[in-house]
Amino acid sequence: MIQLIRGVKDILPGEIGLWQKIEKTAISLFESFGFCEIRLPIIEHTELFARSIGQDTDIVEKEMYTFLNKKDEMITLRPEATASIVRAYIQHRLYAIDPVQKFYTIGPMFRRERPQKGRYRQFYQINAEVLGVDSPLTDAQLIFMLVELLKRLSVPDVCVYLNSLGCPVCRPGFKKSLQKFMSNTTAMLCSDCERRKEKNPLRVLDCKVLACREAMKDAPSIIEHLCNECEEHFEAVKNSLNDLNIQFEIDKRLVRGLDYYTRTTFEVHTGSLGAQSAVAGGGRYDRLIESLGGPSQPAIGFAIGFDRLAEIISSDNAGVSCKPDLFIAALGEQARTNALKWSCALSLSGIKTETDFSDKGLKGQMKKADRLAAGHVLIIGDNELSEGSAILRNMMTKEQVSVPIDGIVEKLKSIFV
Ligand code: AMP
Repeated sequence: MIQLIRGVKDILPGEIGLWQKIEKTAISLFESFGFCEIRLPIIEHTELFARSIGQDTDIVEKEMYTFLNKKDEMITLRPEATASIVRAYIQHRLYAIDPVQKFYTIGPMFRRERPQKGRYRQFYQINAEVLGVDSPLTDAQLIFMLVELLKRLSVPDVCVYLNSLGCPVCRPGFKKSLQKFMSNTTAMLCSDCERRKEKNPLRVLDCKVLACREAMKDAPSIIEHLCNECEEHFEAVKNSLNDLNIQFEIDKRLVRGLDYYTRTTFEVHTGSLGAQSAVAGGGRYDRLIESLGGPSQPAIGFAIGFDRLAEIISSDNAGVSCKPDLFIAALGEQARTNALKWSCALSLSGIKTETDFSDKGLKGQMKKADRLAAGHVLIIGDNELSEGSAILRNMMTKEQVSVPIDGIVEKLKSIFV
């Protein structure tokens, strides 16, 4: 028996109603904020991710699914979507139409992490990105939209954490003071951090190893090193969030796991997720477009962990699925022929209609209708055919009415549409 690969999962029909509900809620909200969908490939040149996410990050160092294609090119299954969005913006010169572009995209990402609850090797993200705007008002608006989505999906105990990672003007000073702090500490860092502390000391702040977290708990904070412009930007983000009544906490250690972030970074956690409590994360990446060969345009975005979102709200939404409005229980050859015609016509008019063309008896078909949680069952057998009317049973109230076969499709449409 061939089984799933470790760390990936199937999303079965019983869960799909919930996934579709999340998708629909996100799409309708994002589009009302002026975002357009973009669909991107799941494979890209490895270099795209190495150059954007950063060589020293866990993702690029350890977690990417990379292979050589027949032309000996290094190809990677995308570990995140932002790099591809930026590539598309540059490659198709979307900035020439208008430098300001607002995209959303939903799809699978791949990271070879240690699988556990809430952490998978193929997982799904919902991204929203605004390219071409540096105003701090956009940062606040994007966070507002993210919080609103979680509100609409009734996610409990939402907490927004905010930080600023500065810019190339102020970050070198911060890196130096971080390195000084690390050279004065006697605490042991993990081997990755020992290696990274010279070249990319910010990564040490993001390390998940307990000893490193402990060692860095009194590390200097970037906020104290921000240049005037970054500080003003950060103040404006905070003020705008206050204006929009969005509560947040400053987390001076929040550096995120990707190197491209500048200025505003944020994460959204929820109390209901246990260890993997981050449900979304994002930030500005004002230098990324230029560094990948595009125009000098700022940008900001976020990614929501779709799987985690589905896990949080699943208990409240169990059974949201494709329940039929009508199940046609047809008994005998002639009745089944009618059921085929009627069900096709009703499905075409948007009524969710289910049939069972096997030769099950009435009991078996009623059992099936019950299992599918059909709203109504239309019963049609030899007796009904000879009398010229079928029986329509309301499965909730158990009430039954007789419906004339002549003009039955129109009659049922008038009941269900
Ligand atoms: P990131 O792309 O690392 O900024 O992550 C954004 C969000 O995606 C996180 O807050 C998680 O909710 C989700 N996420 C990241 N990695 C995984 C994973 N391996 N499995 C499931 N969800 C993930």
